[in-house]
Amino acid sequence: MSVVQNLASIRKDIPSWVKLVCVSKFHPESTIMEAYNAGERIFGESRVQELMEKQERLPNDINWHFIGHLQTNKVKYLVPFVELIHGVDSLKLLLEINKQAEKINRVVNCLLQVHIATEETKFGFSPEEILALYQSGTISNLSNIRICGLMGMATFTDNHQQVRREFQSLKALFDTIKRTYCAENDCFTEISMGMSDDFQIAIEEGSTLVRIGSSIFGQREY
Ligand SMILES: *Cc1c(COP(=O)(O)O)cnc(C)c1O
Repeated sequence: MSVVQNLASIRKDIPSWVKLVCVSKFHPESTIMEAYNAGERIFGESRVQELMEKQERLPNDINWHFIGHLQTNKVKYLVPFVELIHGVDSLKLLLEINKQAEKINRVVNCLLQVHIATEETKFGFSPEEILALYQSGTISNLSNIRICGLMGMATFTDNHQQVRREFQSLKALFDTIKRTYCAENDCFTEISMGMSDDFQIAIEEGSTLVRIGSSIFGQREY
C-alpha cells in the first residue's frame, strides 16, 4: 500500500480532536513529501542531525516535533524551530532547554516523558518525580518553557490489557496535574501516547497526540 492509502486508512481511526504526528525518522524526503501532499503537516523525528537536514530542505510550514531521546548538548540546535519536544525526561534537560530558549527569546513547547512501561530501557520520569517538580515550583520557574502535557510509551507486548493499564496510568497522572497545578492554565492539554501498534487503545484512553511511523511509511531501514 502507498503512503497515501495508509494515511487514508489510519485517518479513519483518528477522531478530529486527536493530532497525528507522522513519524518520518529514517525515511527520505521524497516519502515525507507524499504525506505532506496528502495534507499532513506534523512530522516527528528522533535524531537531531537528521531533523535539521530535513527541516532545511522541506517546506517551512511543517511543524517539526522531536520525539526521541534528547541529549543536552544538542538542545541548542532544536530550540530555534522545533514545535514540540515530546520526550523531556530530566531536570538537567529542562534547565538546558530553558537556558537556550531564553537566549533567543523563545518559549519552547515541551512534554514531560513519564516512565509507564515495565521495561527498564524506556526513558522518563516517575510520576512522583513529576509531581515533585510541580510541587517545588521548579516548573513554574522555567519561564522559557511551556509544559503542554505528558508523553509516554507503553511496554512492547501483545498483552493489550497491560498496554491499556499503562495508558490509563498516564491519563490519571495527567488529570491529577491538570487539576492540582494547571487548573487556570489552558496550555496543559496534551497526552502524547500511541504508536502504530497501540494507537487505537491510546485514543480510547485519552490520547490527544498519536505518533505513528511504520503504519504510514512502512518499515524503517536502519
Ligand atoms: C519511532 C517512534 C514512534 C513510531 O513508531 P511506529 O511503531 O513506527 O509507529 C513513536 N514514538 C517514538 C518515541 C518513536 O521513537
